[in-house]
Amino acid sequence: MSRPQQITVLGATGSIGLSTLDVIARHPERYQVFALSAFSRLAELEALCMIYRPLFAVVADAQAARDLQGRLQASGLATRVLFGEAGLCEVAAHAEVDAVMAAIVGAAGLKPTLAAVEAGKKVLLANKEALVMSGALFMQAVRQSGAVLLPIDSEHNAIFQCLPGDYARGLTQVGVRRILLTASGGPFRETPMEQLLAVTPEQACAHPNWSMGRKISVDSASMMNKGLELIEACWLFDARPAQVEVVIHPQSVIHSLVDYVDGSVLAQLGNPDMRTPISHALAWPERIDSGVAPLDLFAVARLDFQAPDEQRFPCLRLSRQAAEAGGTAPAMLNAANEVAVAAFLERRIRFPEIARIIDSVLNAQAVEAVESLDAVLAADGRARELAGHWLSDRNSRRGEA
Ligand code: NDP
Ligand code: MG
Repeated sequence: MSRPQQITVLGATGSIGLSTLDVIARHPERYQVFALSAFSRLAELEALCMIYRPLFAVVADAQAARDLQGRLQASGLATRVLFGEAGLCEVAAHAEVDAVMAAIVGAAGLKPTLAAVEAGKKVLLANKEALVMSGALFMQAVRQSGAVLLPIDSEHNAIFQCLPGDYARGLTQVGVRRILLTASGGPFRETPMEQLLAVTPEQACAHPNWSMGRKISVDSASMMNKGLELIEACWLFDARPAQVEVVIHPQSVIHSLVDYVDGSVLAQLGNPDMRTPISHALAWPERIDSGVAPLDLFAVARLDFQAPDEQRFPCLRLSRQAAEAGGTAPAMLNAANEVAVAAFLERRIRFPEIARIIDSVLNAQAVEAVESLDAVLAADGRARELAGHWLSDRNSRRGEA
């Protein structure tokens, strides 16, 4: 076999980053860690560097880079420590890199992920926010550079596996009628509506089936995650929003389905463990062991399905509206959601206010066409500003009350 593939893991200290490293460690003859990045968990990054001995590590700022560089050198490691967005883009686009795991959470991952795309890498996309924000530009960059884009989101990875190899000809051309995007419904699927006012960040982060980072856990609880995934599916598979239907499936065993015109419905099943889509994308078009236990259908016993309730989950409706509006709407939706989720995690707002902030931001700003990355970043910045105003107005409203 040829030399091991060189892998950059952006967001190595996160849930997806650690699952990726777990898979890589099972196949040292195939994969070698080229670079690792972290943001706040520096001790964890240092420990990962000791294990995987990457050529580069990337941290948030110059001070953190100097500190880590000193500690790694003292341990006899030759790892070079870079910092900031420039450092992330450098390790994403480096000539020696074969594949990049894009697993930074939120808009912070946009430029590094795009750097990997523009450099024509194999890009394993977990950072759905990057694609949601910049959809048309992102997909255009994929086509221009010849990057190989593989979805890590379990639903999109499932859809990819259920589509024919030539699906890029167009869904209708290959006989696809609908994409059925499954959703667990999160921890509040059956919580009485009036109790949602009092739910805590801890309850929102206690997902019944998946162990994930805090932001995506809150997104799953509000179903904004499914809204972002609806937009993600439209870009990845060139689907219209009306071609993507959300199906609540509480067991999270079917990861999504594709409905064909002849009545065939293909699904991908498996235990809810992100190492399956990660292994699939890393090795594609081959298959490798992921460490995930075989699916025990007798233990699962039953599979349930329900239609989503948009009264309970207004974020889903807002996402569909943003998908249909196009232009800057998804970037604004995403930015408003990031601000709202951070405020909820800091206990500054109640859970149902997440959707109210997003709704208010989308109503306050006209949708514009997206012709450049600057237009995307301006829409992102404007939405953050509007969401910030909403939060300070809320405080003054409460102060007066
Ligand atoms: P985590 O919060 O667990 O990890 C996020 C990673 O991004 C960490 O390494 C973190 O560094 C880094 N990071 C955070 N903020 C910044 C920043 N401003 N600049 C640079 N790096 C930053 O998230 P997850 O692993 O759960 O999710 C990662 C992405 O994958 C998200 O986009 C999510 O939607 C997507 N995804 C996740 C799934 C899951 O099962 N977890 C499933 C499907 C998609 P540090 O920890 O050092 O602060
Ligand atoms: Mg998902």
